[in-house]
Amino acid sequence: MSESADQSRRAALKQIIMGVTLAPFAIDSATALAADEPLLSENDPAAKELQYVADAGRAKDAKPGQTCATCSVFDGASGAAQGHCTLFAGKLVKTAGWCAAWTNL
Ligand code: SF4
Repeated sequence: MSESADQSRRAALKQIIMGVTLAPFAIDSATALAADEPLLSENDPAAKELQYVADAGRAKDAKPGQTCATCSVFDGASGAAQGHCTLFAGKLVKTAGWCAAWTNL
């Protein structure tokens, strides 16, 4: 193997090792960021507009199985009680919540 190919292989291996080593920190910082964001209040004007409720069981228009957890625009860790919703940037919505924009595209 040529010296140049050997150096390329070493560089590639370093990048892989750095990626594997730093990945948990990236996940932890995303979790920490989410923990710092406030929960969306049902009284928030934007939430009211979309009839958001923290518990889908209280939403008269929610169909069975429709919760934030099953909505296409929800982004939350598996088993988490809350997560991000594309429609409510900067706030967290409850995994068991629901709003009139629920979608499953
Ligand atoms: Fe929940 Fe989806 Fe409504 Fe966002 S758009 S609040 S994830 S139901």
